[in-house]
Order: sequence, then structure tokens, then C-alpha cells
Amino acid sequence: MKNENILISGAGIAGTSVAFWLSKYGFKPVIVEKSPVFRTGGYIIDFFGVGFEVAEKMNIVDALRNEDIQMNEVTAVNKDGKRISGLNMYQFRKALRGRVFSLKRSSLAKTIYDALPKGIEIIYNNSIKSLKDENGAVAVEFEDGTIRNFDLVIGADGLHSKVRELAFGPEDKFEKFFGYYVSSFTMPDKLTVNKNFLSYSLPGKQANLYTLNDGRQAALLIYRSNNKLKYNHHNVKEQMQLLRNEYAHEGWLCQQMLDEMEKTEDFYFDAVSQIKMDTWSRGRISLVGDACDCPSLLSGQGSTLAMAASYILAGELKKSNGDHTIAFSEYERKFKPFIDNKQKLAQGFAASFVPSSALSIWLRNMALRLSGFPFFAKWMAGKFMVDDIVLDEY
Ligand SMILES: Cc1cc2nc3c(=O)[nH]c(=O)nc-3n(C[C@H](O)[C@H](O)[C@H](O)COP(=O)(O)OP(=O)(O)OC[C@H]3O[C@@H](n4cnc5c(N)ncnc54)[C@H](O)[C@@H]3O)c2cc1C
Repeated sequence: MKNENILISGAGIAGTSVAFWLSKYGFKPVIVEKSPVFRTGGYIIDFFGVGFEVAEKMNIVDALRNEDIQMNEVTAVNKDGKRISGLNMYQFRKALRGRVFSLKRSSLAKTIYDALPKGIEIIYNNSIKSLKDENGAVAVEFEDGTIRNFDLVIGADGLHSKVRELAFGPEDKFEKFFGYYVSSFTMPDKLTVNKNFLSYSLPGKQANLYTLNDGRQAALLIYRSNNKLKYNHHNVKEQMQLLRNEYAHEGWLCQQMLDEMEKTEDFYFDAVSQIKMDTWSRGRISLVGDACDCPSLLSGQGSTLAMAASYILAGELKKSNGDHTIAFSEYERKFKPFIDNKQKLAQGFAASFVPSSALSIWLRNMALRLSGFPFFAKWMAGKFMVDDIVLDEY
């Protein structure tokens, strides 16, 4: 096997998945993660489609089922917290024969991490500073000053990938901003006893509240912004102020969520964007997951796609006996058209994701009622939640 020593940047969903498959096939992956510990906070994701099939191949479905937050309904509420309408999640679960989970992003990553063979080297609290792809290897300089050689480098370091920046250029070359900002944080105090996913809409903004398996509650705030905002990405206080400007005095539990936000330990704030690239690999360096194909949260499939991409990338390396020139090009040939299609679908949702007027909120709430009808849930699930791709066996 050629190219056994592979550095993976990022211990998220893509990073742990690609490490899982590479080690299973006899490669020697090393992971570098910039966070000091394995990241555990985060928002919930819906998990279905092609990634579910990969999870079955990894034998982690039972472990994921234990993490599933069995949501019964996405409940649209008014400013007094009264139910107006709802998306019936039970009907969707039934239509997909249980092959859909609602999980914390970090629970999915942790479950994959727990399935890794013992002994994989994971370097925390460090990051790649520079890369030199020359003389048949990649010389990697880390932020702590260490220099090591690897046969290949895989960037699985998310939307704001450092590997992508170093190997392909600055983020703005590839980012397509969708005109929304999103924030998520868990709250020390409980704001409701209702365990459904509660969603309060105003023209151009949404405040959502849900309960995690451990009883804690989390907020998910999404609002429209025509322009990309200029703010310091490391300054949490500044980002919190942007949210206060949007949500203070907006009714329902918005003010209470803002108060809880001050005490949270896992604040997340970011633009809603896609990453679109012509190619995902250059020389001995390749990208996987949000780093190269982020479909944005509007697709509701970023994690499942990251798992499928990791399976194919590692599988093609196995199939080519580690020949990266063949493997990287096969990985793109097999997966990129599928991703291009997913990205187009998400772009189609962008205009209506958060309704911009009272009328469109009303229409959306009426449409939610249809989800209670089994035939409608079955049709929606078949159209948007089943992936038309056949995975090779490696
Ligand atoms: C609010 C929200 C809701 C979403 N809902 C869904 C959903 O319902 N369904 C779904 O499938 N997807 C959803 N997604 C998308 C999903 O979370 C991502 O697509 C998925 O997490 C991508 O996995 P990844 O491993 O590529 O990146 P990430 O999960 O972002 O992991 C990247 C890892 O790299 C690390 N890292 C970053 N920079 C460096 C560096 N320089 N050096 C070393 N390590 C680094 C990070 O700390 C992190 O551990 C949602 C996203 C958001 C924001």
C-alpha cells in the first residue's frame, strides 16, 4: 500500500469518519484538532439519507439510536407561545421506516470517534500552519512549531477550513453567502416544559427552542441579512450584541433566550453559506465534508453527506492501493455530481427558508398542517429525504 501516513485536519464528523475507514483499510491516519478537547457542544441535526447507510456499514446505528432525541413535532408558536401549527415528525419517521434520527452534531461525531480503533494518534489544541507538497510528501508545519512529513493530507476542518485556505486560496473565492445568520447555544435554565421543537417566526427571523436528551434546552436563532456583516469572528460579545439587536423586544421567549445566552458555555454564530469548488484535491492534498462541499444548513444534510464523502474517499484510496492520483479523481467523479445537485436544491430553499413576510409565514404554517397526513409525509420524505446514490462496496 502506498501513502500510508495520512494527516487529517479536524476531528468533526468528516475527520472521524475518514479516520475510521482509513484505519480499517490499513492506513495510518493521524488527526489534528484545534480544539483542546473533543468538541461536545452544538446544535441538533437531522440525520438520514446516504449517511445513514454509511452508519450501518460502520455498525454504529444502535449507538446513534441511543442518542436520538425523538422529536414528535416541530411546533409553530405565536408570540404568546400558543401552538399555531406543526410539522408531524412521527409521520416522517414512519415514512422513512425509522431511518432518521435527530441528534446533537457532537453526539454523531463522538459516536464515530468511539468506534475508532484504539491507538489512533489525535493531536489536540494544535493546527496546521503551513503545508509544502514537494518531493513525494507533504511537509506540515504545526502551530506549535513541530514539523512532520506525511504522505497525504486531508482537510476535514469544516466550513472555514485552514487546509483549503493553504492549498486552494482564501475562503471568499469559494463561499456563497445565503443571506442568513445562525446562532445556537445551550441554556443553563429551562424556559419551557414543552419538549417539542418550538419555532417562533417573525418576518425575516426565527427563534427556536428545543430540549436535549440530558434535559438541557438549546436555542437556535436564524435571521435574514441581505449583506455579509463585518464583525470579529473571535469576539463572542460582539456577536451576542448582533443577536440582541435582532431579537430584543420581539415577544415569546426571545428576551429570556438572550438573557440565557449571556451564561452559555457553547455559543455558536456564523453566516449561512455554501462552499463551491471546481475541484477538491490538489497534488497530495484533498478535502472532505464542509471544507469542500458544505451544502449549508438549508440542505439539512451536511453531516450525512460528510459521512458518505469520507466513505468514498477512503474506499477509493483502498481500491487504488493508496495511489492518490487515481483515488482523488475517482472520489470527485463519483461524488461531486451528487453534491452539485444537493447544493442546487439548498439554493432553491434559500429564498423561502425563513419567510420574509407575515403572509408567507401564514402560508408556511398552513402547509405544515399537511405533514399530519401520512401520504403527504411519505411524498415529502421520498422527494427530499431519500438519496439517489448507490455506494460501492470497498
Ligand atoms: C445550525 C446548523 C444546523 C444544521 N443542521 C443539519 C442537519 O439537520 N442535518 C445535517 O446533516 N447537517 C446539518 N448541519 C450541517 C452539519 O453540521 C455539517 O455539515 C457537518 O458538521 C460537517 O461536518 P465536518 O466534519 O465537515 O465539519 P465540522 O463538523 O464543522 O467539523 C470540523 C472540525 O474541524 C475542527 N477544525 C476547524 N478548524 C481547524 C483547524 N484549523 N485545525 C484543526 N481542526 C480544525 C473543528 O474544531 C471541528 O472539530 C447543520 C449546520 C448548522 C450550522
